[in-house]
Amino acid sequence: MAPMGDNVVVSNMELERLLSMKGGKGEASYANNSQAQAIHAKSMLHLLRETLDRVELVEGREVPFVVVDLGCSCGSNTISVVDVIIKHMMKRYEALGWHPPEFSAFFSDLPSNDFNTLFQLLPPLANYGVSMEECLAANNHRSYFAAGVPGSFYRRLLPARSVDVFHSAFSLHWLSQVPECVVDKRSSAYNKGRVFIHGAGESTANAYKKQFQTDLAGFLKARSVEMKREGSMFLVCLARTSVDPTDQGGAGLLFGTHFQDAWDDLVQEGLISQEKRDSFNIPVYAASLQDFKEVVEANGSFAIDKLEVFKGGSPLVVNQPDDASEVGRALANSIRTVSGVLVDAHIGDKLSEELFLRVEHRATFHAKELLEQLQFFHIVASLSFAQ
Ligand code: SAH
Repeated sequence: MAPMGDNVVVSNMELERLLSMKGGKGEASYANNSQAQAIHAKSMLHLLRETLDRVELVEGREVPFVVVDLGCSCGSNTISVVDVIIKHMMKRYEALGWHPPEFSAFFSDLPSNDFNTLFQLLPPLANYGVSMEECLAANNHRSYFAAGVPGSFYRRLLPARSVDVFHSAFSLHWLSQVPECVVDKRSSAYNKGRVFIHGAGESTANAYKKQFQTDLAGFLKARSVEMKREGSMFLVCLARTSVDPTDQGGAGLLFGTHFQDAWDDLVQEGLISQEKRDSFNIPVYAASLQDFKEVVEANGSFAIDKLEVFKGGSPLVVNQPDDASEVGRALANSIRTVSGVLVDAHIGDKLSEELFLRVEHRATFHAKELLEQLQFFHIVASLSFAQ
């Protein structure tokens, strides 16, 4: 249960303690609202496979092959992708006529992630030691040892030189914190009247950009210690196509229109003060390719095997696009599943319920435009060690 609405400023440690996608298996849970990510991930599988083909194989290794998913959350997407990675690596060993090693998968996320739900979704361990053909054919079993790793990926999580493949999807756009100046009334970066940086002032957007770059630098520094020399890394996060960071593209539409208006409704109806609204900010930053590239280059440890913006599609998955109320509900649920925990902590569960009802009503009214306009782009990066 989230604390009741008193956290005016969400600091770094506070966010690490709080942030999670909605756990469990309810209507607004991540497990039930991550089909769009599943579809987007599927469309990028060829790029993931290219990254996996760059991993150097070692014959007769005695230590397990280690795969780590960072920002795994609590739905089945992480399990599907780990399965793809391990099966692909097994096939590569098989093609060389080498005996495959054992595989370990680490599912990593912040400590508040619902690891219980995730672990319950994991298929049972296959009978280890059976033939590779059986392992590859076993669809309802896993052919790897699994463990959870709690902690922020902006710092060290695993022993040095222990990881063969790092994977992270739809997670690196989450900042480690809302920059302090953004919630400081005396600062020019104070995000007055807004809950996201879409359409905000230049100083606010620059503070977010700086936070993103500092965070990504921390991420790469930690991975450069943890990854094996012959390993590889595949990263996907929200992108924007505009150079201007105050135009956050799809993320801007998601958090900067109906969600923003619903917060304004609460203010106008006297349910919360303006300050209460203004002290809430979504800690997400959709980076440009340039923002991302600058950090990888400054870090210097990694060669960029691939870095591109990939068109992802809509975050809304609906069965009946003509049913405006289904579209409205889908939008409210997809915002709630990712930000509901933070909203609950800021204004309490009851007002949060009111807020998302208003998001749903507004989105139902604008269903057609939403379906036409809401479009996500992603940065896809494939990195290996620079020689
Ligand atoms: N990879 C999953 C989930 C993406 S949701 C999928 O493809 O469906 C984004 C996840 O990133 C959330 O579970 C969130 O808790 C996690 N996350 C955000 N900031 C993080 C951080 N600093 N360290 C670790 N995980 C983080």
